[in-house]
Amino acid sequence: MSTKGSKVVLVTGASSGIGRACAELLSARGHTVYGTSRKPSPGPAGYRMLEMDVTRDESVQKAVATVLEEQGHVDVVVNNAGYALAGPIEETSIEEAQRQLDTNFFGVLRVCHAVLPFMRARGSGLIVNMSSLGGVVGLPFQGLYSASKFALEGLTESLRQEVASFGIQVTSLQPGDVRTPITENRVRVQRCGPESTYRRAFETALGIIEKEERAGASVELVARQVLALVDRKQVGVRYS
Ligand code: NDP
Repeated sequence: MSTKGSKVVLVTGASSGIGRACAELLSARGHTVYGTSRKPSPGPAGYRMLEMDVTRDESVQKAVATVLEEQGHVDVVVNNAGYALAGPIEETSIEEAQRQLDTNFFGVLRVCHAVLPFMRARGSGLIVNMSSLGGVVGLPFQGLYSASKFALEGLTESLRQEVASFGIQVTSLQPGDVRTPITENRVRVQRCGPESTYRRAFETALGIIEKEERAGASVELVARQVLALVDRKQVGVRYS
């Protein structure tokens, strides 16, 4: 059973950036938090870090089983683990594209498969999927990242309707640009330099990319949005 706080929360990808900020804030507000990473190091005293690679079924199931063994249930899952592949679509290999989808989309699906039977049995639960502005508009030179987040938005909307009658709520967040390690891989520094075939197209797209950056937020702001969802009894929906 839960030993402190009001909710048992699993945050995937909590070793840095948005996920770490969420784990820290939720823990500081009294929730019982488990963060995950592929190479977990001991987290701050407030919460525990578990090993989870969202691209591996058995790794996902093992981490979820640990939470269930220790707490008896999981109230909230924040599907946050992900990375951003950048570059022209034409120059993105199928293997790179599959890896992007395997983490950002199938990773979420694996975690949902692992937790839903237990949430259904308990008749309650909240799943928060960390989408992106790129899940609402196609971002130039982040095509496969956008595709992964559009797919995530579709999954979120369908799942929301499928599990509502079991008392489970499903929603997503769409942050703009947030300064974290993920942004180090961005297209500004890779593949679109002076020698690139796509240099001119990239320069044309710069305005859109800069808009995305201006729509950005801090990790603290996104963490506060997640906290608001966790603490609310009913979460809003994008389409109703
Ligand atoms: P970070 O790079 O700071 O954090 C990414 C996290 O995901 C890390 O904890 C990493 O853990 C984990 N991760 C990556 N691959 C895997 C994997 N295969 N299995 C398990 N964990 C994995 O990025 P952000 O905090 O910026 O991003 C977090 C989420 O927010 C992502 O889904 C991203 O798409 C989304 N987002 C980010 C925005 C931004 O501008 N930063 C804007 C909109 C959405 P480890 O490497 O330790 O395993």
